[in-house]
Amino acid sequence: MTNKERLKKLFFELVEIDSESSKEGKMAERLKKELSDLGGEPYEDSAGEKMGTEAGNIICKIDGDNDKEPIILSAHMDTVKPGIGKKAVLDGDVIRSEGDTVLGADDAAGLAAILEALRTAKEQGVSHPPIEVVFTAYEEGGLNGSRRLEFDKLTAKKGYILDSSGKVGTMIVEAPGQEKYDIKIKGKPAHAGLSPEDGVDAVKVAGEIITKLKIGRIDEETTSNIGIINGGEATNVVCPLVEMKGEARSRDEQKLSEITQEFKKICNEVADSYGATVEFEDNRLYSSYKLDKEDDLVSHCTEAVKKLELEPAYKATGGGSDANIFNSNGIKTMNLGMGYQKVHTTDEFIPVKELENVADLAYNLITL
Ligand SMILES: [Zn+2]
Repeated sequence: MTNKERLKKLFFELVEIDSESSKEGKMAERLKKELSDLGGEPYEDSAGEKMGTEAGNIICKIDGDNDKEPIILSAHMDTVKPGIGKKAVLDGDVIRSEGDTVLGADDAAGLAAILEALRTAKEQGVSHPPIEVVFTAYEEGGLNGSRRLEFDKLTAKKGYILDSSGKVGTMIVEAPGQEKYDIKIKGKPAHAGLSPEDGVDAVKVAGEIITKLKIGRIDEETTSNIGIINGGEATNVVCPLVEMKGEARSRDEQKLSEITQEFKKICNEVADSYGATVEFEDNRLYSSYKLDKEDDLVSHCTEAVKKLELEPAYKATGGGSDANIFNSNGIKTMNLGMGYQKVHTTDEFIPVKELENVADLAYNLITL
């Protein structure tokens, strides 16, 4: 099994590296050094240049038994805000942040666990498949790094992402796809006091559209939202332009495309009835994924979890992760529970035992 003290030391050190999204430069440097020490040749891809941020994704191959199928282990390098000056504190049997920042166990726990698992495997000289480590940049707020990942640099066709809430042993076997909507409603300006009848009021059109759209939870696996509305220039002008931004998610691809079609249809019909026009832009951020319990990726992980005497749990989520992007790019990938809690808040913490479990799980995944 992995070295608990060394794991904790590395975790504490990684937490103390500032790595807010888009500013992961120092973290990338440290991780490259760790990977080089393990005998790898880390490569930083072009995602950072494309995004205009400090770091791209780090890809590193660790040699293994070529008779075995290569496998990806991945975690992300960035944290949400407030994440400057983080300090991890051991508080009984949990690790939390010192105070005013997130802890950043999301996803330093994943980074530390992967590195410790590789180090232990190397020390013990155990047989393992070739491993492709992928540390992604700018994951928070849009999976920005993985969407620009140089997938042609990877040969593995399956992998695990260490980046989900839920106890260790949790496997995210279903995750939704997401569509993003940009809607521009164009009316016609007119003086609101002198000749309102000459105008076409985009606010009124937007209002009617919103009352007709199905917004919120649509069913057990489908949601939608209009999160931003902007428009108007002055109280005495009939509003000529309203912009709305929204999204829809579903674990069922068919339902997701039906919602998009319905949103478009409602926007156009209502706009037509007022003599307004609509520009409706929909962008697919990522696709859904669904894995069977019988799938080798899932059954292998189940075995790895059971060997730790933990309880396997198969969950569906409403959120997206790098696993969606990997799956969309033809790499069968599952996101795994990390045991951290209250992520994205300054109350974030991880039980020491769960940090240890994650590293042992990563070790089992590559050595079983
Ligand atoms: Zn995360």
